[in-house]
Amino acid sequence: MKLAAIYARYSSERQSDKSNEDQIAEAEVFCKQNNFNIVKVYQDKEITGWSDESKRPGLNELLKDLPAHDFEYLILWKLNRLARDSLLQKQLKRRIRDSGVEIISISQQLPKDRRARMLFETFTEFQDEDYSWSLAEDSMRGMMAAVRRGEFAGKDAPFGYKAVYSKKGKRTLVIDERTGPVAREMFERFSKGETAASIARWLNRSGHRSTHNNPFTSDSVYRILKNEFYKGVLVFNNSTLSKRGRMNPYYEVLRVDHSELILVCPELWEAVQKKRTSSRGRRPRRTYFLSKAVVCSHCGRFLTRRASGKKKDRKKQSGASWYCQNCTSNGYSSKTVGEKKLESAVKSFLRSVIEAFLQNAEDFTKKLNLALERKKIEASNTSTLEQSLASLDERIDNILSAIEQGQGIATLTRRLSDLEQQKVKLAQKIKQTKAAAKTIMMFTPDEIRSSLELYEKYLNDPEQQNKLLRSILSKCEMDLQTKTLTICAFGICEKISF
Ligand SMILES: [Zn+2]
Repeated sequence: MKLAAIYARYSSERQSDKSNEDQIAEAEVFCKQNNFNIVKVYQDKEITGWSDESKRPGLNELLKDLPAHDFEYLILWKLNRLARDSLLQKQLKRRIRDSGVEIISISQQLPKDRRARMLFETFTEFQDEDYSWSLAEDSMRGMMAAVRRGEFAGKDAPFGYKAVYSKKGKRTLVIDERTGPVAREMFERFSKGETAASIARWLNRSGHRSTHNNPFTSDSVYRILKNEFYKGVLVFNNSTLSKRGRMNPYYEVLRVDHSELILVCPELWEAVQKKRTSSRGRRPRRTYFLSKAVVCSHCGRFLTRRASGKKKDRKKQSGASWYCQNCTSNGYSSKTVGEKKLESAVKSFLRSVIEAFLQNAEDFTKKLNLALERKKIEASNTSTLEQSLASLDERIDNILSAIEQGQGIATLTRRLSDLEQQKVKLAQKIKQTKAAAKTIMMFTPDEIRSSLELYEKYLNDPEQQNKLLRSILSKCEMDLQTKTLTICAFGICEKISF
């Protein structure tokens, strides 16, 4: 008999999510069939939003039990029960596996081969990521197709616009009569020399709120001032990594003309950009190739860049290096590694990995599609929802017959309209779930190949390389003591010594 623990989590933000009871019931069936003995059940209920991942008593208890665990397996309904956020999910999986517990996801039977498994996980992590662009089950491709058709796939309409649904259910933007002129005035004020901070104060004084319903700050004003949408161009898939899925395979930035939504004429928009980027404006912090990509193996923080070391080194032009600020200030280690060496090692590793996958694109695509296929089948399974619908119908019938028999009519009618409302909601949910499943599409080897080729191209593009690096590395850890780098991408790992 193998010993197992179960972890279940229900998050209400997903329409297709299973209840904890269902997750646990399925896990119990799995355990019975596969000869597992359940030692303990951990669960977290009704946690909305990924930002609350830390407030999870069930998970915390599980982590607390790990060092002295009396189970060998952790059974989950899906890997994303651990966390939606891919980085967090990765960390948790590692922590659990490192303690000697094997993770089993009953709805995602993982490939046996270790490399294939990591590949699969990387892609499911991407799919689980809660990026703000859309309902999570939509695939990026579906969104990009919608954007090309002139629809709006973002979460919130930019300030000055509002999102509306057409009769066919298409989501588009229109100018908001109330805030549209205000957005235009922001550009005018800035071009006349007013600062972003002063514009923010003016907006807040006049009672306006940003798209997220927060007071304006100079940052949010700047975000509006540099958005091309105000001059009629929708730019899509150009967001920073924190906003996009880590494994979003699309690096193509879409630019779609929306001249019907122009709030700011091109001349004024350009004038604002000139002012914004002039020396008086703020200069954004430079992003280096290795920024936020290399982690210190001792403390887990990102390495920091040091321009060129000490003063005398600067004279010698010995070049920049990377070190761990945390370990240095703690007095643990102040060792550094040269930027040139580190960069070229990372680059050549990535090149070789991409090369390997390019030669194997058919195989790679097959595995990825298999995973997507399973996901599609699972996503289109509305049977639990339909069961709930049937039981609602039954309850409604019962109440109807009770009313007919003349029992406590007022309460019963109230209850009845309650149930009717639930029924409408549930029917909607079923429809949405089915529609969401349809947006999951398979990849062709050519698409995979072109993504990989784009990766290669962006590896040499100063604008893109850091973003790319951070999205495809699943591990990049530097042991500064031994000067060894452990680096992984697409399931392939390598140790490099300096
Ligand atoms: Zn450190």
